[in-house]
Amino acid sequence: MFKALLCIPPNYCYTYDFPPLATPMLSGYLKDKGIEVIQADYNMGYLDYLKRRVFNSGAFGGISNFEASFATTKLLNKIFEEKLKKNYYYSSLLSPDPLGIFYDDNTNSSFHFVERLLSSEYLIRYIEDRKENTFLQFFIDEAIVSQVEKQGINLIGISITAPSQAIGAFTLGSLIKQALKDVRIAIGGQWVSLFREELKKRPDWQRFFDYIIIFEGETPFYSLADSIYNNKDLSSVPNLIYKADSQWVQSEPVSKEDLNKLSCPDFEGLPLKEYLEAERSGKITLTYQTARECYWNKCIYCVDLPLPKYGYRERDMDLIVDDIKKLITKHKMSFLEISNPTVSAEQLKRLSERIIREKLDFSWWCFVRLDKGFTNSVLELAKNAGCKSLAFGLESGSQRVLDFIRKGIDIDDAKRIIMGCYNAGINVHLQMMLGLPTETIDEALETIKFLVDYRGYIADVSFNIYYVTPSCKVYLYPQQYGIDFKRYPDLPFKFFHEFSHISGEVSKDKAYGLIQLYRQLLLKKKAEANNAGPAVTKNADSRLVKSNLPFTVGEDTVSILYGFDKDKKEGIILDSTDREEDVQARYSYI
Ligand code: SF4
Repeated sequence: MFKALLCIPPNYCYTYDFPPLATPMLSGYLKDKGIEVIQADYNMGYLDYLKRRVFNSGAFGGISNFEASFATTKLLNKIFEEKLKKNYYYSSLLSPDPLGIFYDDNTNSSFHFVERLLSSEYLIRYIEDRKENTFLQFFIDEAIVSQVEKQGINLIGISITAPSQAIGAFTLGSLIKQALKDVRIAIGGQWVSLFREELKKRPDWQRFFDYIIIFEGETPFYSLADSIYNNKDLSSVPNLIYKADSQWVQSEPVSKEDLNKLSCPDFEGLPLKEYLEAERSGKITLTYQTARECYWNKCIYCVDLPLPKYGYRERDMDLIVDDIKKLITKHKMSFLEISNPTVSAEQLKRLSERIIREKLDFSWWCFVRLDKGFTNSVLELAKNAGCKSLAFGLESGSQRVLDFIRKGIDIDDAKRIIMGCYNAGINVHLQMMLGLPTETIDEALETIKFLVDYRGYIADVSFNIYYVTPSCKVYLYPQQYGIDFKRYPDLPFKFFHEFSHISGEVSKDKAYGLIQLYRQLLLKKKAEANNAGPAVTKNADSRLVKSNLPFTVGEDTVSILYGFDKDKKEGIILDSTDREEDVQARYSYI
């Protein structure tokens, strides 16, 4: 029987609260078509590998993934800082200003390093460098190649959704292709779809993979498997880029999935108890989609891919309910992340009604827009159906800015819905953006004021600082949207683009300052509310465990000071540069 391995490459992402959905969606579909599938999350494997190397002995026996994630990230950062100082062959690819990378660390999975390594003369050397490439060390030490051989895999699908996964994916592909000549490798995912034209210019990367699947992958992957197994012509496989005369060639057929013809996601093989949310709550938490793409689809900065967009599609509610029942029965799922870009008020209402009517016992959360349709009665219904929290991308507290970025949100609706959630007992998570095109300091302060005024109704706020990303409207028409940015032809895989404002006033540094201001104001309000002494507690030291942990990668041994606040269940990294009050402030209030 034809056998496929679907895998997540390692990139050291410690923010995986929930299992991924791409490989489970594909796995469910392929299994229903009669293909045997094995799934592997090598990112979780890599985390476990690092954890074992760092924490196997000493004061940290039995450390959780959550605790380890703080320490190992910091550790990897330190290792790469050493490389920077020593002028290694790849030092020039690291960020000279690691603290300046807002979205990232400065490791072998950082966007900065990856986009430079991919275009550098050192790519192959690094991929094959057993001393320096920690992904390679992981694959070798964990004997992944011989596992694949023993499993009798015919086709490997590697899902690459973020730039940070590319080096891990290429390392795996390189190892497999050197050792197992008959195993075919296909890459797919959002990163692959976004950079498809650049990938086509790299026939030299055929040493890492054989096929590139772009956009939605279910029908193309099955068709590819069928073509390989039955020796059919690859040109009829939709959404496929394949080898012909040592070049990449794109097939002509295009497939757009009908969600009602897809299958229930299959999570078999994934370490479901180890994702952070499951580890925190002790409950199996899964991921699901009730629709694909966004019904609004107008925001000028939107990075929701893949492109081109096929349009908003929902799965039939009967099928959704059947899927949920299967996930509860098969995986004992008790918490669900609905990971659509956004769930409409209308679909949320119908879903909630069905969950209540069918007495489905699980909790859930999802992303939604602050649309008028989220009335108090819809929110109360959702709460009664097990909704624990809703995440909203509000981005700005200024109506002018919201209109300019075509967010389609009325700030008064936003206030009403946030309070409606609070009254219904649903946690509100807000995503905010600072430094948006044309945003003035006063408008950014409106955002900060909004968040401080409504702090009592909001469970948490995450800030993004605006960067230009490929293919969105701002990227295509920067002048029209009030910015200027330099393109880097020598970095074709660049994801975050620095830019300068033409009319906007909120630079990256000012945005950082505004975030600090927000935190200070929260501290002040909290102190005022408590009416008791300093806002920052000084006694947490007694609850910290400190240790010096040596760890060697390549030729470097570095050590860190790591603590864990047992009461708050939060990791704390102590640098020599960290002042105690800074550490306390950071981990008490972020
Ligand atoms: S609401 Fe979100 S997903 Fe939809 S267009 Fe705007 S940013 Fe994109």
